[in-house]
Amino acid sequence: MNLAAIGFGNAGGKIVDRFLAFEERSGRSLTTEALAINSAEIDLAKLEVLPPDRRLIIGQTDERVKGRGVGADPELGSEIARQDLTEIERQLDTVPIHETDGFLVVAGLGGGTGSGGAPELAERLGRIYEEPIYGLGVLPSADEGGRPSLNAARSLQAFADATDNLMVFDNDAWRQTQGSVAAGYDRTNREIARRFVTLLAAGELDGSQVSESAMDASDIRRTLATGGLSTIAFSQADVEAETKSKQGLLGRLRSNGESHTDEGDLAKKIHGLVRKAVQSRLTCPADVASAERALVVVSGPPREVSQKGLQRARQWLERETDSVEVLAGDDPRTDADALSVAVLLSNVTEVPRVDELQERAVTAQENSRQQAAERRAEIDELLTDEENELDPL
Ligand code: GDP
Repeated sequence: MNLAAIGFGNAGGKIVDRFLAFEERSGRSLTTEALAINSAEIDLAKLEVLPPDRRLIIGQTDERVKGRGVGADPELGSEIARQDLTEIERQLDTVPIHETDGFLVVAGLGGGTGSGGAPELAERLGRIYEEPIYGLGVLPSADEGGRPSLNAARSLQAFADATDNLMVFDNDAWRQTQGSVAAGYDRTNREIARRFVTLLAAGELDGSQVSESAMDASDIRRTLATGGLSTIAFSQADVEAETKSKQGLLGRLRSNGESHTDEGDLAKKIHGLVRKAVQSRLTCPADVASAERALVVVSGPPREVSQKGLQRARQWLERETDSVEVLAGDDPRTDADALSVAVLLSNVTEVPRVDELQERAVTAQENSRQQAAERRAEIDELLTDEENELDPL
């Protein structure tokens, strides 16, 4: 599938930047257009791959912002996004719509610019374009405190409403205990890019031979058409030594076409990878059985993509998800050095992390109201004389 990807806010921009880096490295092609939008100039300047003319600063004329960000205030984030929607639309004039299957708006939901702006943009895009609008929302980790949880819980509702499907990544499940937060985010963003690009770029050919069960954009679109929240599973293994020896121009010239790798072993490998993906860390933990639809993409050298393995994996996933519909297909990449499996679990309804986030958000909202009331009472008390004898002017 081909998408126009728009990163909103700091996390959103960094993740789209990693998408481009992963596309470059892996030879995949997902984005027909990429744009980063932010209210803080300094964050836009830090992006590495996205060309400077694809970075848009918003809220510059607003006295409260002036290129310095919105200070984790999502109300202000959504206000400046609304003010600058026409400029954002103008930047998107370059999207080659005839080659674009949809839009993907990416944002961290615990801050201000992305949290407030991404739902505004998704809503506007939905009104302008006929193509589906997808979201990628990053949930804050619990240790960030109450305020990010409150921002994220509120934004999540608006963002899910404004998109055709909101894919979720939970920072809490991916929190790293070692190293700095920045280094941790850097690693996490690479993992996000690997998962989302492997899944969503399936079917966009790089010259590899096409198989009969190749995944294409319409399969992905269909799986995402459920609405609601989605999560992604992923696993990867090295290709066999024999595959490696046949890769590249030289390998292909030397190869006599014979294969000594057992078909049964390759089938087992695929089946095992799909099971491993679904049973390990999802982008957002969820009860797999609550998914409405699922899609499996096996990406790697065609000689390793066993159709029997794919078939068995699909049947296993059908049982596991109790799902009415599981699509499975491959994404041939002749010279890939790994066999990757990405599984999209669409419209999952049992997502404990969202319940926890909402609980923390309600507590944070109550605390903040109580603190505001206490502050008002304290100011009153300070300004009122002991016996309340003075008449104010
Ligand atoms: P904004 O610029 O105002 O939208 O705010 P940020 O994007 O800086 O932060 C919003 C939330 O995104 C934070 O609360 C974090 O949970 C998360 N976040 C920030 N930077 C990153 C990042 O690089 N990667 C990931 N995965 N999450 C991030």
